Parts: sequence; structure tokens; C-alpha cells
Amino acid sequence: IDFLRKLPKAELHAHLNGCIPIQTLQALAQERLLSSSSLPTEVQAGIERLQNGIVLNEIHEFFGLFPAIYALTSAPEPLAVAARAVLTQFLEPSLENGDYPQAAYLELRSTPRETPEMTRLKYIETVLDEVEKYPAEKAALIVSLDRRMSDDVAKECVECAVTLKKAGRRVVGMDLCGDPLAGNMEEFAKHYRTAKKAGLRVTVHIAETKGSHVADTLQLLDFQPDRLGHATFLDAAQKDFVCNSKIGVEICLSSNLLCKTVPTLEDHHISHYLKHNHPIAICTDDTLPFRNSLISEYALLLAAPPVGLGLREDDVERIARMGMECRFKST
Ligand code: IMP
Repeated sequence: IDFLRKLPKAELHAHLNGCIPIQTLQALAQERLLSSSSLPTEVQAGIERLQNGIVLNEIHEFFGLFPAIYALTSAPEPLAVAARAVLTQFLEPSLENGDYPQAAYLELRSTPRETPEMTRLKYIETVLDEVEKYPAEKAALIVSLDRRMSDDVAKECVECAVTLKKAGRRVVGMDLCGDPLAGNMEEFAKHYRTAKKAGLRVTVHIAETKGSHVADTLQLLDFQPDRLGHATFLDAAQKDFVCNSKIGVEICLSSNLLCKTVPTLEDHHISHYLKHNHPIAICTDDTLPFRNSLISEYALLLAAPPVGLGLREDDVERIARMGMECRFKST
């Protein structure tokens, strides 16, 4: 385990609201109770579910976890508390990790939300304020578009990201996330073109479920993304395209197993990319519901089958280096 702790690792696929430490979420709920004397029962139930550990029958159940979390991070102050806790979790040395940080570098991603207490611009600025407390070689922000967003809202998010980047703020890329079957990819294409023109890099969740539409996958590859999230259900030709184009793939092992998009580690598409020495980055996705960490994801590479993939230490070192090389540079 010391070998894994010391290894410089990049976390490139971590959703802010999916990575809030449970203690921080509980503290935010407590604070809300103190200030408004009640919490909606569905929020209370959602937090209890996260506390007790979730079991998902399929990926679509997963998205139902977020409304309870969102209810607690819908104003600038609690959002800043949540962002700070996520950055601390990944970037600060901790006792349980032998006094090493989990990650040498974090590209945190989040979807801007408009609430009665903040605009989408304020949302991004609030998260950026926390990200920028760390040096550029340690932390940066990716602004996510949600596939369920209207065209107008997606446009507004890209405009905010571009404006902030031009102002020298540390937004390095755009993501596409949310319900893998929702949204019109043709509409999103123009937004990613705008983002790219402004120098932002692009990563998209792609072919995440068995039911993912082939037309969506082709259109997403057409965006010329710089990285892909999950990429679980690409067919042979699409995999060849990805390998030939050297597009890095963000691999989230526990997430895929727990959302049941991959039955066992043995079946995981990571094997294909390892066989082709293709750039990948090992990532956590959502540490709150999945109860994982970057170290535990790397431990799955080393552990003997069937628990892990049984890779050698030098292979794991090479994979960690690939992860660092997949970073979006902050320019
Ligand atoms: P946020 O963007 O900081 O609010 O993080 C939570 C959001 O990330 C969720 O509401 C989802 O839209 C998105 N998300 C988290 N995990 C996944 C995933 O595995 N697939 C697609 N979207 C995801």
C-alpha cells in the first residue's frame, strides 16, 4: 500500500456533488436544521441512504441520489464548504493515507446550477475560488454540461466558462454528463465547438450504458473530444478510432461495477486499452455514493483476481504516469 500512496496520481474524473465526504454532507444538513428548523423528508431520507451505503440495481437509479445532495449545496456558502471538503479529500495529506495526499493533481468537475441564492456564473466562481486556493499544478476546474439541460442553459454555461477562462480563471475544460440517454447531441455540438475555439478542452461521458444510442456515440466522437468518460460500450470500430486518435479514456472501475454497467473486473474494457498501451486515467467518479478513493481504485489494479486485475507494480506505475499525461493543461 505504501507503493500506491507514494505514486503521483491524477484524479481527472470526479464530480463535485458526487464526492462530498459524508461527514461534510451531514454537517451541512445539521446547519440547515439549525437555521431553518426542518429538512424536507426526502432530503433527510436521501442523506440516510447515502450514510447507510447504497445498492443500485442499474445506473438510472443512481441519478435519483442527487436531489438530496443538491438541496444542501444550493447557496454559495455551503457550496464553498462542499468544494473545500472535496479538494481537501483529494489533495491534502491524511493520516489514513500514511500522510500522503490521494492525488498529486485534481481536475474537479461540476455542473453550474441556478438557484434562488445564486446564478450559474456565481456557482462557477464559488467553486473556482476554492480550486484556485491550490497552485495550478495541483487543481483545476472542468465545467460540466448536463445532457438534460436546455439549449439556452447549455449556452449560458459555455459563455460563463469562456468568459472566466478569458479573465484568467482556472477553467480548463468542459464535460458532458447526466442521464446517458437524454439530450440532443446535435444541439450540444455547437456548444463544444464554441468551447474549443476559446481554448477549452473537452471530455464527454460516452457510451456509458448498454442502451446508449449509437448515433449519440458517433456524434460525440465527432466533437473531437480530448478525453472520454467511461466509454464502456464502444464497438470495435469506435475503439479503433479512439486508439488511433489517442484520445485518453477516464476509467472508473468501482463506478462501473456498482452501477452494473460492467459485470466483473475481468470483463472491464480497461483490458482493451491496457493491451494497446492506450492512454487511460484511473478515476473515482463519485466517492460519496461509491465509498471509494483514488487509492482504492489503484489497489484494484494491483490486487490478485478476482478481487483485482493482478497487474505488476511497474504496470501500475506506468498507468499512473499515463493519468498525469492526460491532464488538461491550464494555459
Ligand atoms: P455536480 O456536477 O457537481 O453536480 O455532480 C453531480 C452530477 O454529476 C450528477 O447530477 C450527474 O449529472 C453527474 N454525474 C455523476 N456521476 C455520473 C456518471 O457516472 N455518469 C453521468 N453523470 C454523472
